[in-house]
Amino acid sequence: MAPRATEILTQTPQGLYCPQGDFHLDPLRPVARALVTHGHSDHARAGHGAVLATRETLAIMAARYGEDFAGSTQAAALGEPIRLGGVTVRFVPAGHVLGSAQIVIEAGACRLVVSGDYKRVRDPTCRPFEPVPCDVFVTEATFALPVFCHPDPDAEIAKLLHSVRLFPDRAHIVGVYALGKAQRLIALLRRAGYDRPIHLHGALERLTALYKDEGIALGDTPRVLPEERGQLGGAIVLCPPSAAQEIWARRFPDPVTAYASGWMRVRARARQKGAELPLVVSDHADWGELTRTIRETGAEEVWVTHGQEDALVHWCGTQGIRARPLHLLGYGDEAEEGEAAVPAEVA
Ligand SMILES: [Zn+2]
Ligand SMILES: [Zn+2]
Repeated sequence: MAPRATEILTQTPQGLYCPQGDFHLDPLRPVARALVTHGHSDHARAGHGAVLATRETLAIMAARYGEDFAGSTQAAALGEPIRLGGVTVRFVPAGHVLGSAQIVIEAGACRLVVSGDYKRVRDPTCRPFEPVPCDVFVTEATFALPVFCHPDPDAEIAKLLHSVRLFPDRAHIVGVYALGKAQRLIALLRRAGYDRPIHLHGALERLTALYKDEGIALGDTPRVLPEERGQLGGAIVLCPPSAAQEIWARRFPDPVTAYASGWMRVRARARQKGAELPLVVSDHADWGELTRTIRETGAEEVWVTHGQEDALVHWCGTQGIRARPLHLLGYGDEAEEGEAAVPAEVA
């Protein structure tokens, strides 16, 4: 008899588990064999026996945790089928951050897609999401409310550049997550024609260098030296979100505080962060992207991992798609992602 989807993927305290292949997906605690969708710290953790992920995700994990982050590693080439016990897996681009992938699992005639985090808007720093027809689509739901409709990222960049022109003597301090958002913002600024140096807080340096090593053109991104902060009037400075609120940021000339996050759509959050210039730039799908993606996969069943699960499950019901919330704990939304990767000593 063909295995049921709930037998192919089960829920364990460590996260989703495939008994036939004997592996966990984005496990929260150390396991024997982990398949990892992308390098954000809530999905990619150190201490597993073996890790299978894209080459870029492995490089990101090594940059964050050190070369010995796992007992052994194997790089998954995009699209290449890999046999693991009784199932076949395949990594397909997810469009979230560099190296991010959906993981396709096939057992007999049943195909499940675990999408990890994803977005559909083009991002110059990573490969675009590819919809894969499947029986069961496992999706995040970070921004799964109809109110979430992310604006055009280029329009948000134009707001930042407009402010820089308007206040040529003020430093523009932009809070961004260290993996993905920082590099995407730099790439978007370059695409908009901004060719001056973009200054980086030390905590953003390593992953930005990694993106450059992977061939992503980001231009001149010098590190901010503590003593030169007073001279950076008119400059754009990127730092981790926490640093934007700290004393570190106050040493710049009359700083304009900006944050780039999907959460900036929520006014209360922007206010709470003290964001003078909230930029709505998200690496997660908004409501329209989530529902379009579910339709494109043709899945008869949808499992919702984390975020605003109820609204998406309800919407699936109205479309005649079976859906259930997994209530997976331990996966942060964008507001937490990357925070753990900011070493205190570079602040
Ligand atoms: Zn993520
Ligand atoms: Zn996540």
